[in-house]
Amino acid sequence: MMRKMMAAALLTGSMLVAGLAVSGGPGSGVRGVDAQRLANARGEPGNWLTHGGSYFEQRFADLTQITADNVGRLGLAWSVDLDTTRGQEATPIVVDGTMYTTTAWSKVMALDAATGRVKWKFDPKVDKARGQAACCDVVNRGVAVWNGMVFVGALDGRLIALDAATGRVKWSTQTFVDVDKPYTITGAPRVVKGLVIIGNGGAELGVRGYVTAYDAVTGKKKWRFFTVPGDPAKGPDGEVSDAVIAAKSRGTWDGQYWAGGGGGTVWDAIVYDQELDQLYIGVGNGSPWNHQIRSNGKGDNLFLSSVVALKPDSGEYLWHYQGTPGETWDFTQTQPILLSTLMIEGKPRKVLMQAPKNGFFYVIDRANGQLISAKGFATQTWAKGVDLKTGRPIEVEEARFRKDGFLVMPSALGAHNWHPMSFSPRTGLVYLPAQEVPLFYKTEEGFKRREGAWNLGIDLLSNPVPDDPAQFKAIKAMLKGKLIAWDPVAQKPAWEITYDGPWNGGTLATAGNLVFQGNGGGAVQAFKATTGEKLWSFDAQTGVIAPPVSYMVGGVQYVAVMAGYGGAYPLSTAFDDPREARNGRVLVFKLGGTARLPKATAPQFAPANPPADAFTPAQIAEGAGIYEATCGLCHGAGAHSSGVLPDLRRSGALADAEAWKAIVHDGALKANGMISFAKWYSPAQLESVRAYVGDQARKLKAREAAGR
Ligand code: CA
Repeated sequence: MMRKMMAAALLTGSMLVAGLAVSGGPGSGVRGVDAQRLANARGEPGNWLTHGGSYFEQRFADLTQITADNVGRLGLAWSVDLDTTRGQEATPIVVDGTMYTTTAWSKVMALDAATGRVKWKFDPKVDKARGQAACCDVVNRGVAVWNGMVFVGALDGRLIALDAATGRVKWSTQTFVDVDKPYTITGAPRVVKGLVIIGNGGAELGVRGYVTAYDAVTGKKKWRFFTVPGDPAKGPDGEVSDAVIAAKSRGTWDGQYWAGGGGGTVWDAIVYDQELDQLYIGVGNGSPWNHQIRSNGKGDNLFLSSVVALKPDSGEYLWHYQGTPGETWDFTQTQPILLSTLMIEGKPRKVLMQAPKNGFFYVIDRANGQLISAKGFATQTWAKGVDLKTGRPIEVEEARFRKDGFLVMPSALGAHNWHPMSFSPRTGLVYLPAQEVPLFYKTEEGFKRREGAWNLGIDLLSNPVPDDPAQFKAIKAMLKGKLIAWDPVAQKPAWEITYDGPWNGGTLATAGNLVFQGNGGGAVQAFKATTGEKLWSFDAQTGVIAPPVSYMVGGVQYVAVMAGYGGAYPLSTAFDDPREARNGRVLVFKLGGTARLPKATAPQFAPANPPADAFTPAQIAEGAGIYEATCGLCHGAGAHSSGVLPDLRRSGALADAEAWKAIVHDGALKANGMISFAKWYSPAQLESVRAYVGDQARKLKAREAAGR
């Protein structure tokens, strides 16, 4: 054992030396990634030191070996197969020849960035039952590195510091204020001034959002900032947010807003501004979504759907900008934030740019939070624009669905979700993975909170999945994905590309006049950054949603991306193309690369498997209500799965009442993440879910027999 450890240490040591020799960079692997190197990340284009490539989070690789002229020769350098069909959303970090990346269920791996040789793996062994609380798949968006350590936020709330050389745990701390609440971590931590900063998610199910900073060496908590007020009966939190909550936030809420947690989770963007020494956090949606239920339809509900600027050392409030006051559509503003200096009306302005779910592209003066400009980048039925004097959206009267339902665009999946956008200082364009996904919003009559389950206050059954193939196709045709090259000064697109479906990958811009993006259909592509001309494409054999990165080892430029389909859209919607579940992969490309993926087999679908039992229409209707409010959020609306999780219409258990009960009621598959739903539903109710899914299976079987 001891000898094995020593051999591993020696091997790792030699790899670090080799990495240093070829990259010629300062320091020595992650051990040398100190505050100065992080601040100077843009001066090291051969490495990818932070989540967004540098503190500016522009995701711009200043490398020119791969260019618009030669990208046609790009080929696979190496690939590594992963162990799961769940979504892969991570941004790999690359330091002096070593890649650190995460995979679903918060696992971490260190790889030789030139060869793909696995150096170590770390599995935090997250209890799979936590997966039920993950609104949008059990994904992880990556690690942060600093001074010989690799930091990961685990789905179950642990923030874990690993030894970068060995993958061994150095410290671990529980970041959830209450582990019994349905919090989850999917976002990447950031290291800022010796602090590790992490937020969490869970606002669909009912939590109160916050962000916490920990000492990177000891793991001790330094400060915590709650984004929304708590239960006034419990008094102040004793946290740095108390003063600003009392001064600004509390009066903007009404009713018993604390009952559902309030929401406002900081589940993605956490960005450090090294020029102004400020930290920007993107704050998520309200919980429950419906403002009528959450806050009696009154008040702006600060700091929901806002960017909040804090002092990084103390967490003290500096300023905020709220894009969607009184949000009621799941319009998070936690989407990626990127920093730059733009020439606006002849003057250089230090700005932050953000394109949150609500469909507006915001350019904000980061010195004071003043809105400079905002323009819609996707179809918007909820608002007509933004009043630049007040910074508030000009809402359409019916958009709040106070009496009737309303078809809202964009919707909960966002005109832009977490998929990172990139910015090229050479073209001055932002490369934005946008989408068009409408949702019909209608208040859920007789809403009752269910602890630990989804609590939206929106009647999802008012978005029925049509049985008629022509109607189905008509809705599917409305769903689009786009790659938009957005000019943030002129606030309009320079060019755009339309995809068949939404939920495409994050983007990478490079100095080779290129933009790289994977898409939900499984193509990893390169476009000319100035014109959008498609120059290169690679079949990943699975949908790609993660953002690519680029780096150099030994004088060779590589482009890397995590492939592996998943996340909110394929889990929850009915209109995605059905596909076979495939394990994810790390894919790495270089000029002249000749590696090959194994030949993909044609998708094999089990036959639809309707039960022979005679269910009553009342059973089917009851099952529909339960299924669409609970099961369909992971197994697909209308029981249409897109393959990330099993298609229940084809499940062997569907035809057998006992087998169904063993799984759905008794939790037989909880080790896979399929927990028991006995907490919320009786055996009879879960049997009516079988009735509904069985009915859907019967319809599918009929359609397949008719060749539709
Ligand atoms: Ca949300």
